[in-house]
Amino acid sequence: MANAAAAVARCRKCEIGSLRRNSVYGEGDPCAALLVIGEGPGETEDKLGRPFVGRAGELLDKMLLAIGLPREDVFIANTVKCRPTFDDGVRLRNRAPLPEEMANCRPFLDEQIALIAPRAILCLGAPSAKSFLGPKFSITRQRGTWFEGPSGIPLIATFHPAYILRMTGGELNATKRLVWDDLKKVRAKLDEPAFPAEPEPPAVAQPSLFEA
Ligand code: URA
Repeated sequence: MANAAAAVARCRKCEIGSLRRNSVYGEGDPCAALLVIGEGPGETEDKLGRPFVGRAGELLDKMLLAIGLPREDVFIANTVKCRPTFDDGVRLRNRAPLPEEMANCRPFLDEQIALIAPRAILCLGAPSAKSFLGPKFSITRQRGTWFEGPSGIPLIATFHPAYILRMTGGELNATKRLVWDDLKKVRAKLDEPAFPAEPEPPAVAQPSLFEA
């Protein structure tokens, strides 16, 4: 994984590879049962070279802890490993990753999934989920549903913590409830036995020793 992270740091396939301060490979337990995939690094992540360390990251940590998962027990990554930015004339601002940037970065994400081989994938927000499930995926209608992800790994999506942070009042409470439902599904999936018990072999009729 260190080699993979070094390859990410050397990559200049996209322009953002030259504009960013640090690449953000991802971090956590390389043998994690849960892989969390966000959209892309923001300003704080770019500065520190670590995923989800800004305000959205603080909320993500709380969300994970609510289902008994300290941050260091999962692996946290993004669809792109460099901060997507645009210049507003004064400073570089965050923007959503372009489809081409996601496609360029995809081999790194696929390699990450293969290395970690998680038992479940949690996509945060529509762009992350769409990168696996296609452009028709609707976060409002299809979040909280299990899909077959890469290599058959169960994949579920919920709202991005940054989206939750933009809400207020009743809307915020309603969204939190939906996210909590989704997180409970993640917990239940991880609690399923890794190797389900073999079904009992069918009873073999004993030949009668006393047949006439
Ligand atoms: N938002 C993301 O999607 N990823 C991060 O790493 C931080 C914020």
